Amino acid sequence: MLQTTLTKLLNIRIPVVQGGMQWVGLPTLVSAVSNAGVSGLGIITALTQPSPTALRQAIRETRVLTDKPFGVNITLLPTINPPDYEGYARAAVEEGVTIFETAGNNPGPLIKFFKSQGCLVIHKCTTIRHAQSAAKLGVDVLSIDGFECAGHPGEDDIGGLVLLARAAKELNIPYIASGGIADGRGLAAALALGAAGVNMGTRFMCTVESSIHEHIKHKIVQSTERDTVHIFRTLHNTARVFKNKVSMEVVAIEKRPGGAKFEDIRELVAGQRGRLVYENGDPDYGIWSAGITMGLIDDIPTCQELLARMEREAEGIIEQMSSLVKAKL
Ligand code: NAD
Repeated sequence: MLQTTLTKLLNIRIPVVQGGMQWVGLPTLVSAVSNAGVSGLGIITALTQPSPTALRQAIRETRVLTDKPFGVNITLLPTINPPDYEGYARAAVEEGVTIFETAGNNPGPLIKFFKSQGCLVIHKCTTIRHAQSAAKLGVDVLSIDGFECAGHPGEDDIGGLVLLARAAKELNIPYIASGGIADGRGLAAALALGAAGVNMGTRFMCTVESSIHEHIKHKIVQSTERDTVHIFRTLHNTARVFKNKVSMEVVAIEKRPGGAKFEDIRELVAGQRGRLVYENGDPDYGIWSAGITMGLIDDIPTCQELLARMEREAEGIIEQMSSLVKAKL
């Protein structure tokens, strides 16, 4: 067993967190991650629910499916319709959730609220300076999101290898590695870089218990690390998404002389349109998030199979590495 600060803090067996994913972080997947014999931490994505009341219902559904720890993600980024972040936060706390993943811009008030309620906060960020600010606000764990990640990698374009090594030097609280991890090798590498565990998104999208359409899971299996593209670069809200007709059209509009305003691409990028990709199984229907870990994903396991395999792989690699040191002696 791999015991780290994270497994002890969260009372889980393997130091793996299923990070927030818009339209994907639903009770069936969340409970499968938390319930797996080699249990990780499942996280419900708050904004996937249409209202704080619906989030309450999702939390209750998850509780029926698991008695293990799980968390709730709240991400603060530009949106077409401003969500009631405070309402989602209050609803989750009132439902007894004690673990939160925060991410995005100006998370201070949200972090302060969760800490005032005695909750454990994992804050996801893409730079060391943001990690340091969040640590000052009292978060318990940082989730250091490298440029490899799906969704929003920030604007500094620093890959996980350097970002995590910097985290090891600069941070005084536990951190986990996010972006670019899909197997036990990635987990072992993250631990070598000083992380207390990992966060995975795309890998969990492609599991039996993920509710996205089977065609999209197969598309992820067939795709490689070269099948993503960045949109919103010119709007300073960069997002790594699956490379398809719609995302390439967005990039072409952004490259026009004079650039693009959000209004020029709003219809193409709307989350409600992207959501339908997961329902109708057409990978070209809208924008959907995917990380370069697609190059590492070649099957659709259950969460239990995935996490047990990751544990075996990571332990094997760590043993192999320590035997290298012994061999030298
Ligand atoms: P949405 O339909 O409101 O917006 C679609 C996309 O456009 C999002 O990426 C959003 O950040 C971006 N956007 C919206 N207004 C913008 C503006 N004025 N300028 C630049 N970019 C703009 O989003 P949604 O799909 O309903 O998702 C809700 C929120 O959750 C968004 O902020 C999204 O980025 C975020 N998100 C969260 C996760 C997560 O892990 N929880 C994953 C992906 C996206």
